[in-house]
Amino acid sequence: MNNFDYRQAATTNDAALLVTDNDQAKFVAGGTNLLDLWKYNVTNPALLVDINRIRENKTIEEIEGGGIRLGALVTNADTAYHPLVEERYPLLSRAILAGASGQIRNMATNGGNLMQRTRCYYFYDPEVPCNKRIPGSGCPAINGYNRMHAILGHNENCIAVFPSDMCVALAALEAVVNVSGVNSKRSIPFENFHRLPESAPEVDNILKHGEIITSIDLPLKGFSSNYSYLKIRDRNSYAFALVSVATCLELDGDTIHEARIALGGVAHKPWRVKTAEDTLRGKPVTETSFAQAADIILSGAQGFKYNQFKIELAKRAIIRNCMMALQPESQKPGAQP
Ligand SMILES: Cc1cc2nc3c(=O)[nH]c(=O)nc-3n(C[C@H](O)[C@H](O)[C@H](O)COP(=O)(O)OP(=O)(O)OC[C@H]3O[C@@H](n4cnc5c(N)ncnc54)[C@H](O)[C@@H]3O)c2cc1C
Ligand code: SF4
Repeated sequence: MNNFDYRQAATTNDAALLVTDNDQAKFVAGGTNLLDLWKYNVTNPALLVDINRIRENKTIEEIEGGGIRLGALVTNADTAYHPLVEERYPLLSRAILAGASGQIRNMATNGGNLMQRTRCYYFYDPEVPCNKRIPGSGCPAINGYNRMHAILGHNENCIAVFPSDMCVALAALEAVVNVSGVNSKRSIPFENFHRLPESAPEVDNILKHGEIITSIDLPLKGFSSNYSYLKIRDRNSYAFALVSVATCLELDGDTIHEARIALGGVAHKPWRVKTAEDTLRGKPVTETSFAQAADIILSGAQGFKYNQFKIELAKRAIIRNCMMALQPESQKPGAQP
């Protein structure tokens, strides 16, 4: 039995104060990831700061400039089914609903989704080394069973992938993450929030200890006419992505005016290659155009013994998903992917 203290915070600032003051403290929201990590002995907080009573981060509302703000404590289910999200950001709805299960989405919060940890099997097994769990101990995945692992952005320290679906859509939509610390606030462009392993694979993102995510802003542009989220996984439910793709297109007749393509399941963070997206500007809407972009996106990819297949899979998924974005009705609930 491990002893721990439990406190309920009433305000964002109280929560930030409690965690800042104790380097062994953690926030808990829905608990769907944290409690698993705790049960597996991957984490062992001395103080649990429950943020569920903070009222200010529980709404979805319109913001100046025409976008919307998603409270960090709104559940994934309430976000996916919110009329403003369904109507203006259907890509986000589809991505959230591709994740986990109905029960988990009812508990999981938006802030927690951004903060969830990798699903690398070695990370969850305290009997084996893992640089993300114990820095400097090694990475058994590199020469081990690495079917789920990264093909882009990895290095000799860690080849884990970030497992979120929601965050792949947030990357494509160019969301902004609002965070608060003790008497401080900052807004982080989504592409800068998660990080690559580099020399510190134990650090998943740029949040400082004690900083709390308060909300996520979606800019005005929601690409609700041409979008698609495709998740390729071993089972059709309750499974993490082998590869996922979020596509947003803005078309001018049969010509691409703007394209955004974000990948999940392939790197330590949602993956976008803006040079590839730029090459699509002014190109005809054809499989050939998307195939050329897919080649650029995967040009630096490097697989391992069990996940080489992901490189070709990602290319095909990009092409298929971009074509699906031309028919967004294929994304409606009940439609076959
Ligand atoms: C069986 C299973 C299947 C799953 N499948 C998928 C899937 O297919 N796709 C997918 O995307 N996800 C999947 N998930 C992950 C799930 O989406 C996350 O566990 C969930 O989003 C985490 O949210 P939470 O509120 O429960 O976070 P918690 O478990 O409460 O917290 C997770 C981490 O976030 C921190 N945290 C929470 N809120 C904040 C905040 N506001 N500010 C700062 N830090 C915070 C906590 O301190 C903790 O470190 C799955 C989970 C399970 C258990
Ligand atoms: S891939 Fe990363 S998380 Fe997995 S064992 Fe290696 S260091 Fe740990």
